[in-house]
Amino acid sequence: MKISSTVILKRGKEGSVKRFHPWIFSGAIHSIQGDAENGDWVKVTDTSNRVLGFGHYQTGTIAVRVLSFAAVIQDKDFWEQKISAAYQQRFATGIISADTNAFRLIHGEGDGLPGLIIDVYNGVAVMQAHSTGMHRDRLAIANAVKATLGDSISAVYYKSLSTGTESEYLLGMAVSPHVILEHGNKFYVDWAEGQKTGFFLDQRENRKLLDSLSKGKTVLNTFCYTGGFSIYALHAGAKQVHSVDASEKAIDLTRRNIELNGFSSVEQECFNADTFDFLKESKTPYDLIILDPPAFAKHKDAKHQAMKGYQRLNAEAMRRIQPGGIIFTFSCSQVVDRQLFYDTVVSAAIQSGREIKVLHHLSQPADHPVSLYHPEGEYLKGLVLFVN
Ligand code: SAH
Repeated sequence: MKISSTVILKRGKEGSVKRFHPWIFSGAIHSIQGDAENGDWVKVTDTSNRVLGFGHYQTGTIAVRVLSFAAVIQDKDFWEQKISAAYQQRFATGIISADTNAFRLIHGEGDGLPGLIIDVYNGVAVMQAHSTGMHRDRLAIANAVKATLGDSISAVYYKSLSTGTESEYLLGMAVSPHVILEHGNKFYVDWAEGQKTGFFLDQRENRKLLDSLSKGKTVLNTFCYTGGFSIYALHAGAKQVHSVDASEKAIDLTRRNIELNGFSSVEQECFNADTFDFLKESKTPYDLIILDPPAFAKHKDAKHQAMKGYQRLNAEAMRRIQPGGIIFTFSCSQVVDRQLFYDTVVSAAIQSGREIKVLHHLSQPADHPVSLYHPEGEYLKGLVLFVN
């Protein structure tokens, strides 16, 4: 890495960097020495020339994503050290096992690498860069992944966020879709065609909890995507499982995953439909409903509209569910915090007129860690509700 520019912060603006918050907003910058360009590595200092850290520069609101808070940076094995630390944490928290061979290796800010996501799917690493700096460093990162994970990795695929750049294998080759194991359940992961990196690993532990509650139940899995929750419910011995998604591709993947796990002959059905319409029209007496919609609010401006969406969705499910039924409800919108989500679910409950209690507060698993200094990293919120 070549560090030729220095970003000097305004007096009094160094506090958040000293507290390990990895974002430096453009408004905090006093001046820049050198001609920093998009994606360049820069040094960050205060006005007295004290080094606060190093990071990727980008024109925009977040001007620097800090990748090291040290006074000096180890150029040679920087990426290897970071990736190895993250990998050790995955091992230490017992995520990787004989039953689970898919995990998130790098979760952006949570692993001290803002702008970078790497998911590992049974020996294939799939990487996404959310900043120009990470995009430019993609080869060095891929090499560090290989150096750290060794023979357990056969390929590193770079999935581009924009249509301008090609997705490509940076190392090795693999065939997509590819089968992974999650708590003993099999799934096809299609990183080339699927959403994000191809699979939502963040629901792994919540799916496991669903498994423990599904036996003998009539289950509705809305926004099912690859059918994650459906497979766990079927595995647990649910009486009947319905899976709903507005995307035909998703429904196709769900069907293939049901077949892959040998549940095709079990009482189950997949519907290519809008969840809101389906909930209104279906007459099936469900006693377990999963609501895992996409982020209704991607920006602060969309927050109000999103809250209305969550409220309508939850109220409809609460109205529909059988007495003694259970609802798993989620929000993955970053701008909707836990309290706001809870309050919205309360309004939905009032609207439904049902008596409801909270059984569990759910979140994201240990391979999606949140830095205490970067609370914005907690994006997945869920509640398990018991409806009388
Ligand atoms: N529960 C899934 C992840 C859900 S991702 C899992 O465990 O992996 C969100 C999904 O919602 C996407 O597959 C998308 O196609 C679907 N979707 C978006 N809007 C929808 C709508 N109005 N009705 C039904 N599905 C919708």
